[in-house]
Amino acid sequence: MGTAASPFLNPIADKLEGVGSKPTAAVSSRRATHRRNSLAAQVGSYALGAAVLLVYVHTGTISMAIPSAFFLCGVALIGLFAALSETYFNDHFEDHHLTVFQVAGHVAIQLGFVLAAPEIGYAFLNVLFLIFGVASLQMTPRHAAIAWTLTAAGVASVFLFTQSPIGMPVATTTERLAAALCLVLTIGQCAFIGLYGDALRKKLYRRSSELREAYNRIEELAELDELTGSFNRRCIMRMLHEETSRAHRSRLPCSIALIDLDWFKRINDSYGHPAGDEVLRTFAITVFANIRNFDHFGRFGGEEFLLVLPDTSHDTAALILDRLRAIVADLDWSAFSPDMRVTVSAGVATLKPDETPDTFLARADGALYEAKARGRNRVANA
Ligand code: GH3
Ligand code: MG
Ligand code: MG
Repeated sequence: MGTAASPFLNPIADKLEGVGSKPTAAVSSRRATHRRNSLAAQVGSYALGAAVLLVYVHTGTISMAIPSAFFLCGVALIGLFAALSETYFNDHFEDHHLTVFQVAGHVAIQLGFVLAAPEIGYAFLNVLFLIFGVASLQMTPRHAAIAWTLTAAGVASVFLFTQSPIGMPVATTTERLAAALCLVLTIGQCAFIGLYGDALRKKLYRRSSELREAYNRIEELAELDELTGSFNRRCIMRMLHEETSRAHRSRLPCSIALIDLDWFKRINDSYGHPAGDEVLRTFAITVFANIRNFDHFGRFGGEEFLLVLPDTSHDTAALILDRLRAIVADLDWSAFSPDMRVTVSAGVATLKPDETPDTFLARADGALYEAKARGRNRVANA
């Protein structure tokens, strides 16, 4: 069911868009389209109602004036709302459908015809349920209270303050047919409104899935380092904390490594900052290609990275790091410059019982310092 063809589909979206601000031209025009569809559906509903009344004309219960006047009154009221809608008068109101006014107008017509043709009064009373069924898709609790109060007053006036014998003739088969038609068509239209409600629910569900996806993407972006695509400092630190807690709970080993590019300032100075950026990116991609899918790799700052290796003993971590070091050292960097060499140093630490993430990290940092002091392009163990 297309949105544009659904007169009641967007009341919630419309309300959200309009809250506290003048609607934009696009919103205003979309709302006008919804109103047009809604009013066209109302004309259809009056035509249907008038057609059923023709059966009562056929049985001689009412005169032809009743269905004609019923249809004309309906069209006149809808025409009035259409005129207001097309001049964008509705945009001055929070509820641009002017639901309470529409309900009041339609209820007044039905009650007027209950009085005009009381012998088929229930045919018009029937329609009150339909009016409220449609309006319920657009009304706030306050609107509903006002509309119900007005309707209750109208119904009470008709029933309590007039002597009209309100009825629904069922003496002949044709009259029974007409009575059944009145009920069945009203129920059918109510069911149709239910379908719109269902479409609205599906649309909201789809919107909420899209929002969730967008939110996940934003979260992902907020967790990634823009330059290297590795996790950013905030994220890798959170992972360090999580893996530390998990290792304490499970009593499985956990190792980390702080990796720093050697003489990186010289790379920047010799080949330029953009080339330095490319080196950082290439280094990160190389690490990603050579770690396990449960390892976490993030940029700790500048040209320093943190690798978190869950379920990994010290010996294994040292082997992994030395392998990574060798891979980086053996990489062909000649695409950047024929004489470019890039190496890394790393400090590896394995979590001790009851150790905090901070001291864990400080030991890895100490080991990195040692690797630098011992000549770089090496891995030191804490
Ligand atoms: P060491 O072997 O002792 O680590 O020497 P180093 O030159 O790598 O260390 P130092 O801390 O003296 O210099 C780090 C350099 O990294 C300085 C800074 O300009 C550079 N750097 C930090 N972040 C970036 C970045 O995002 N892009 C580029 N191109 N350079 C960066
Ligand atoms: Mg460095
Ligand atoms: Mg550094």
